[in-house]
Amino acid sequence: MPQNFLNFLASLVSSSPTSPVDQKLAKINTELEKPNYQRTPAFPIHKLPGGLPKANVPEDVDVNAVAQIALDLVKSMKPDDLIEDALWRDLWAMTGTSRTFHSNKSISAAWTETAREHQPHDFKVPPGGAMVMRPGPGVSWVQVKYAYRTSGRPMFTGKGIIRVVPDSEGKWRIWLLISMLDQIPGFPSPDIMAARVLPGHNSPPPTPTSMKSFSDVDYDCVIIGGGMSGLCLAGHLQALKVRYVILDKTSKVGGNWTERYDSVQIHTSRGYGQFPFGTIWGPEYPYHLKTSHLADGYNRYVKENDINMMLSTTAEKTWFDEINKVWTLQLSTGGNVIYMRSRHIVMALGAGGQIPKMPNYPGKDSFKGTILHSKDYRSAKVWEGKRGIVIGSANTAHDITNDMLEAGCSSVTMIQRGATPVLPVECWSGIYDKVYKDDVPVSVSDSMMIPMPTVLQRAMSMMAITKYANEHKDFYDGLEKQGFKVDRYMDLYHCLYERFGGHYIEVGTSKKIIEGKIKVKSDSSISSFTENGLLFADGTTLDADVIVFATGFEGNMREAAEEIVGKEIGEKLDDWWGVDKEGELRGAWRPMAQPNIWFTGGNLGLARFYARYLAMQIKADVEGIPLKVYKGDP
Ligand SMILES: Cc1cc2nc3c(=O)[nH]c(=O)nc-3n(C[C@H](O)[C@H](O)[C@H](O)COP(=O)(O)OP(=O)(O)OC[C@H]3O[C@@H](n4cnc5c(N)ncnc54)[C@H](O)[C@@H]3O)c2cc1C
Repeated sequence: MPQNFLNFLASLVSSSPTSPVDQKLAKINTELEKPNYQRTPAFPIHKLPGGLPKANVPEDVDVNAVAQIALDLVKSMKPDDLIEDALWRDLWAMTGTSRTFHSNKSISAAWTETAREHQPHDFKVPPGGAMVMRPGPGVSWVQVKYAYRTSGRPMFTGKGIIRVVPDSEGKWRIWLLISMLDQIPGFPSPDIMAARVLPGHNSPPPTPTSMKSFSDVDYDCVIIGGGMSGLCLAGHLQALKVRYVILDKTSKVGGNWTERYDSVQIHTSRGYGQFPFGTIWGPEYPYHLKTSHLADGYNRYVKENDINMMLSTTAEKTWFDEINKVWTLQLSTGGNVIYMRSRHIVMALGAGGQIPKMPNYPGKDSFKGTILHSKDYRSAKVWEGKRGIVIGSANTAHDITNDMLEAGCSSVTMIQRGATPVLPVECWSGIYDKVYKDDVPVSVSDSMMIPMPTVLQRAMSMMAITKYANEHKDFYDGLEKQGFKVDRYMDLYHCLYERFGGHYIEVGTSKKIIEGKIKVKSDSSISSFTENGLLFADGTTLDADVIVFATGFEGNMREAAEEIVGKEIGEKLDDWWGVDKEGELRGAWRPMAQPNIWFTGGNLGLARFYARYLAMQIKADVEGIPLKVYKGDP
């Protein structure tokens, strides 16, 4: 045998990690192991396609006749049945997830493919389900509510709305279609509260060293986090008779609010903050609920509905059994470590990450006063007579400067870096109070607002905000006169869906800035701490006894979740928040590359509305008929 061939064989069997064969194999192995999933990329919200159509519905239109035409258009769903710029949003009905399709061709293709799977039929318009809507000059349409059934697996009933416009020749076409999963026959209704199903397993709990394969579970679903998101989900899971438990590290129901600063109040309305399954805060409560109201309402919701909750319990670690698709959770509770098994876990950890963002200005040690992050702030009462500075200019910064003023600080200054979007609550109320009312069930209000495609929700909010800002110039001019840089034409959906904050809903503090009671410094950036306060880039200084950083939090919920599930599984989770190219919120309530794990969260309305869909996905999986997810990209 030639020597060079022997050398070659020797090199093949060489155990040296640096041999070329090893290197090649290592490369192949890495490529084989490389996961074939990709986290959903973020897409700029302002570039989402679609918008309001330009059309005029004749005054003498017969809406009932148009309703029948609209149903026929959905049944046919050829590209010509839609306007070119049409939108279709599906919420866990035809696509088994949340999707928004744009353009007549894409919608026709996606509907046709999903209809082949689900065989929709029996389309009906409920009595009084059709109406003309005229939101502005040259913009009008006929809106038709509809319901239907399917014969695929799982069978389901769906509902939604169709909006149609006449073209120049009078032919009606769809410009917007919304379809939503309603019920799955054979399952209890997700919207009617039922008695709690008890947990159960029939093998002893595992120990950390023997955690390999356990098919018996304690729960079908463990929810980590008992704030609004976890509690709403729990309610719908209970209605669907899913065995679940909520874990929360705080010691009391409502701890997600009571463990924040004392003056917390929600800036949106009482109506927008309700739980599902009936009104918790009636008209006897104020418009803006405070911590004590929130805690009281959360306790009543938990008690009245017999929600299953383990308090003072922190989820520390998990293992996933790929074969049986079962999670084992390691929990710390009352000084003990316990283990629990569940088919699904839901991360309801709170949206904004948990690591305080703390700019590192030099000279911190030289400052003689108090420095803290808003995470550690409780009350300004102890600072009476002191000089206070708050760094930051969004909601929390406004709340804390207001507290300092109310507590009798001798001076209060807000340090602002760039222009802050400010939305007076009366503008917010002008949009939302028409829909969220004491005498309308919150589920009805939600279904009027939240299912709309993101691009349309954003367009409608910008129209209302622009109108308001143009009619209330004095308010914004007043802020600017005091040195507060204001973004008066606020892109609300950019703040809510891309930044999750960074804005202020004015509930009184802007007024105090305009009156000069709270000072603003925005003309120079901070260079360093001094012994007595802060030094700015322009050489000016500001003295203080206390400096609070209201500078937000690092990271997103994916990173907080990774701390619990570990890096390998964490890699397979979507980033939390920001929108994808369809305008759907990333990571939120949808299946991810890692099975049996979900994220929930958002503001109060979103957390409530989407909980029912997340509960139905979990129920369908537990019953062995998971929703079929359409991944097509026509
Ligand atoms: C000061 C403030 C004001 C706000 N005002 C409004 C408003 O006016 N309107 C509005 O719509 N939204 C508002 N929001 C946004 C608000 O956060 C959400 O609307 C809502 O409260 C989010 O609920 P959540 O359940 O997702 O998160 P959270 O309320 O943050 O609850 C998360 C829970 O998870 C628990 N947890 C986290 N990690 C673990 C773990 N490892 N183990 C066990 N438990 C864990 C925490 O203890 C916490 O109780 C406000 C937020 C803040 C901070």
